[in-house]
Parts: sequence; structure tokens; C-alpha cells
Amino acid sequence: MHRFAGALAAFCLAAAGTAAVVVAGPAAAAPACSVAYRANQWQTGYTADIAVTNGPTAASSWTLTWHYAGNQTVTSAWNAAVAQTGNAVTAQSLSYNGALPAGGSVSFGLQGTYSGTNATPTDFALNGVSCGDPAPPTSTTPTTTTTPTPTTTTSGPPPAGCTSAAICDDFEQQTGSTPGGRWTVGAANCTGTGTVAVDTAVAHSGSRSVKVTGQGGYCNHAFLGTSLTGVGSNHLFGRFWVRHTTPLPTGHVAFMAMRDTADSGRDLRAGGQNRALQWNRESDDATLPAQSPAGVAQSVPLATGTWSCFEFEVDGAAGRLRTWLNSAEVAGLVVDGVPTPDIDQQWLAKSWRPALSDLRLGWESYAGDADTLWFDDVAVGSSRIGC
Ligand code: CA
Repeated sequence: MHRFAGALAAFCLAAAGTAAVVVAGPAAAAPACSVAYRANQWQTGYTADIAVTNGPTAASSWTLTWHYAGNQTVTSAWNAAVAQTGNAVTAQSLSYNGALPAGGSVSFGLQGTYSGTNATPTDFALNGVSCGDPAPPTSTTPTTTTTPTPTTTTSGPPPAGCTSAAICDDFEQQTGSTPGGRWTVGAANCTGTGTVAVDTAVAHSGSRSVKVTGQGGYCNHAFLGTSLTGVGSNHLFGRFWVRHTTPLPTGHVAFMAMRDTADSGRDLRAGGQNRALQWNRESDDATLPAQSPAGVAQSVPLATGTWSCFEFEVDGAAGRLRTWLNSAEVAGLVVDGVPTPDIDQQWLAKSWRPALSDLRLGWESYAGDADTLWFDDVAVGSSRIGC
């Protein structure tokens, strides 16, 4: 597996908080453009869905600009190239979504940080023409348009941990059957029968989670993944809730993988072996703990039929790793820099200073073990998030 093929694709966001839709543009017919800006925010961060509807002038590429009234800072974006200077933001179309016909719409998304008030921008301009201005005259007869009524919708409270996390996702904003927005679904090396889907039958929070139907066999793995760009630190804390159907098997499985750019792009994996949680380093197949009986005894199994809170800390600069299950640290899942027999002695046999570039959640089996599992309330930040 191991590399996530494809760019972030579908457009659909997930994060909780308030969501306001503000439509800029005059009530008169044929505005130059209109913009629906939907922010989903937590205490220090936000994502925004931005849907641009063109006026009567077709364009082969587009640039949308606006200013933030506060200290909002864009940290990442998808389906547009977004740049910010001071409070001025410029979003440009990409090679695949530049064509914008008269009356057509295009959407993109971004994530950012802020403090204080996260006010919705009001001065959008498309290709240099304010969305509050009438459209330039055209030779065609303007069609009658209906200006959407501004609406405000409110979703549930933000998931725990969102006060400090750079990524915080409860999947409540997912509208399709396949996770979109920041998430890409796939399996890089081979494709089989494993599936990933937004699920409304089982959720840790709200009414949605992601269900991974993982089949046995290496090529039946399935993951949803997101870039860690913008998390802003090589010292990562992660937290997610996971619900398994089948106990961790004797064979080696993984339910999380992170690409380590400092380890030839090979994965750092979390999963299980010998019926207990373990970490595995793809580059040399080192395990944590060692798979000796004494090592396995210092890890723990994973409950089935209930949600478990999995937390990890990867300190790339120090080459250290810690792991908690349901808030309790797991002694066998610690790399502390001091080689300990049965735990991290094998792991420390080589220099390890991970630099993780993505996070993938799903299922990979190296010995034919299947499982169906759910993920919810995924968060990554630069300090411990908690359950
Ligand atoms: Ca949820």
C-alpha cells in the first residue's frame, strides 16, 4: 500500500461547528457572480466550502479573491490554488476545473486557523469583478436568475479535541457515500474487494462515521487518507475512535498507515499481531513491541463491538513514539529512545526520525484476515488531544 494515489478529489467537508451560508451579489438579475461560503469551525480552526456561481460571462480559468476581516490564516486547500498575503486571499482554478461556463458553478475548499471571530468574507470578486457588481454587459439576453436566500444552518457541537487540533473531522459534513473533502479513498498498490464508505448506521458522534469493509489478503486492503500538510509540526499527536467487528488476529494487520518521508517513503503502521496492538515499520518490518511472548504481553487487545479511543504521539525530531488506548498508555507501544528488550530494542536497531506526510485509516491484512471496522472523530494536532 503505501502511497495514496490521486489528489484530493471530491468536494465535501467534514468538521463540526456552525455553518453559515452567505450569498454575495445584488438582488437584481445577472450578478457578475455569487459565492456561497460555508465555514465549519471549532475554537481555533475552520474549514470552508466555497461555491462560486458565475454570471453570464463564460471563463476558461478563474480567480476568486476576498479579504478576511480577522486573523484567519489559510493553511491548506483543495480544488484550488490558494495564496494569502496579509488578509488578502487569492484562489485560482487548477488545470482540471478552470472552465466556468455562464451560470456555471465550481467549488473548492480550504482549511485555516483563526482566533477571535471567524467572520464570513463579504468582498468576493471573480476574475477581478466584484460579486456585488452587476455583470458586464453581454450580447446575449440575460436570463432571469433567482438569488438564493441566505440561510444559516447549525450542526452539532465540535468533536472533542478540536480546540487544538489542526485536523478535526467527525464526518458529519459528508454528503456522499464515499468520503470526500480532505479524504481520498484508495489503495495504492493493488485493488481488491475492500471498501470504504460513509456510514449512517453506526457513529461515535452525530450520525455519520466511515465504515471500512476490509477483506482478507494484501490486495483487498482499503483506506481513506488525508495529507498532513498544514499540521505544521513534525511532532504529531493523533486521536481517532475505532470500532472493530473481529478481534485482532494472530496474523499481521494494520488499521492505520502514515507515509514516512524520512524512511524512503515507507509506512509507519499501527495495527495488530498475535492478538494485540502493535506498530510496524514497513522499511525493515520492525515491530513494536517485539513479537516475543514477553513483548506481546505488554500490549493489549482491541475490543470488538464498541468504540475504542486510539491516541498516538510521534516525535519525529526525537525519534519517539507513545500510544494510548482509551486514555491509558500502553507500555509495549512506547519508543523512548532507550532500547528495552521485548519492547523497542528491535525498533531502535536503526536510526529512526520519522517525518510523516499523510494519515490513512482502513484495513490491511498480510495473512488473509478480514474485518469490518468504523472510524470517527479523527483529529491530528501538535498537542495531546484526548478522548
Ligand atoms: Ca460522526
